[in-house]
Amino acid sequence: MWIDTHSHLDAAEFALDRAAVYARARAAGVTTQIIPAVSHPNMAAVADLCRQFPGCLPAWGLHPIYTHLPDAIAAVRAQIENWRPVAVGEIGLDLFAGHPDFTAQEQVFVAQLELAREYQLPVILHSRRAVDLCLKHLRRISVPGGIAHAFSGSAQQAQAFIDLGFKLGFGGAFTYPRATRLRQLAKDLPLAALVLETDSPDIPPAWLPLDQRRNEPGELPHIAAELARLRGVDTATIAAATSANARAVLRLES
Ligand SMILES: [Zn+2]
Repeated sequence: MWIDTHSHLDAAEFALDRAAVYARARAAGVTTQIIPAVSHPNMAAVADLCRQFPGCLPAWGLHPIYTHLPDAIAAVRAQIENWRPVAVGEIGLDLFAGHPDFTAQEQVFVAQLELAREYQLPVILHSRRAVDLCLKHLRRISVPGGIAHAFSGSAQQAQAFIDLGFKLGFGGAFTYPRATRLRQLAKDLPLAALVLETDSPDIPPAWLPLDQRRNEPGELPHIAAELARLRGVDTATIAAATSANARAVLRLES
């Protein structure tokens, strides 16, 4: 019923109770989780997880904040050949901390966009303080769409992604009353453009108590209920639309 389009269920934060977290997600109706890899060594952990837990589907890729060895792109290619993922990801650009390795980030991002184009795979895009730069590369290297994960740009940038065949990932960030700009976007953007994600264990929704800030995929229906309230529709409408959007952009079977 629900698709969490961005979950790091393989993360160390779940080492002690991963099966219980997975079971809670299933009980909440989250039948599919997209698990994006972040580095060369992480691909093995994501593969193990996806073998073990039904409905967990991998994306292979190199996240911009990690440092990658020169042969990492070849490793992503080998992994795609070995196990066709739902997407190349998560990939992108991150200028949040004024990243000193930006040239390397850009090279790794471009090389992975070229892989996505070659294998005709959508991408799961990570972008912080770099939306226009990401868009510049996406206009140049045409991939079959993807998801702008944890979208937090402007309405114009949202439209630019939509024009490139992207869906916009919404999760815990818009659940905070302070996030007025993001809440306005969550309310106004066409429902056909939205997909839901938790980014577990990160981006906890507003209602998680301060001493329990680990997010988990079972929160997805609650995030959807908040989106439904904002948009003045029922949760079933959000479920049907966002699941159909995720299936379409990731070409999942229904
Ligand atoms: Zn992520």
